[in-house]
Amino acid sequence: MIYACDSCHFLFSRTAPAKQCPDCGKESIREATKEEIQEFEQRINANLWDE
Ligand SMILES: [Zn+2]
Repeated sequence: MIYACDSCHFLFSRTAPAKQCPDCGKESIREATKEEIQEFEQRINANLWDE
């Protein structure tokens, strides 16, 4: 599942349920929207091209 943080807008993927944002440590995370999931996947593809 892809999660989004409402505090810092960090997007991250976890297979297990997550409670805290790995970036800012706050518990203001929620399931990412379809748009955010697309953004997340595009970022992964962009990172691959940077290598
Ligand atoms: Zn955060």
